Amino acid sequence: MPDDCLFCRLVAGEIPATIVRETDDTVAFRDIAPKAPVHVLVVPRTHHANVADLAAADPGLTGRLVAEAAEVARAEGVGDGWRLTFNTGAPVGQTVFHVHAHVLGGGAIEGL
Ligand code: 5GP
Ligand code: ZN
Repeated sequence: MPDDCLFCRLVAGEIPATIVRETDDTVAFRDIAPKAPVHVLVVPRTHHANVADLAAADPGLTGRLVAEAAEVARAEGVGDGWRLTFNTGAPVGQTVFHVHAHVLGGGAIEGL
């Protein structure tokens, strides 16, 4: 794991987070600066810079990450309508280079 990766450190418990669900290979936690009433990030425990790298390296884990995002949406009460966003690359605003799925819903969604 890269020592300087924020979400590797969060997964390792070195940075506090409000965790909403965990599986063997994913962690879901509330975004520190929510852009919608429901804004949860779902990350794989293993480090991949973005969703393209993850999909190339591990298609199975990519599928489990998306399935887990759907579980999060249901658990958060927005299973009837939610958005899944993967910012991929700095030009579209990716700021943390450990792949994360934004699960958004429950009302107005700002930006992203
Ligand atoms: P990106 O712009 O890379 O797609 O999204 C990064 C997200 O991570 C942002 O929505 C930002 O608010 C969130 N974030 C950044 N630092 C932290 C942190 O330390 N803890 C949590 N829970 N979220 C963070
Ligand atoms: Zn990482």
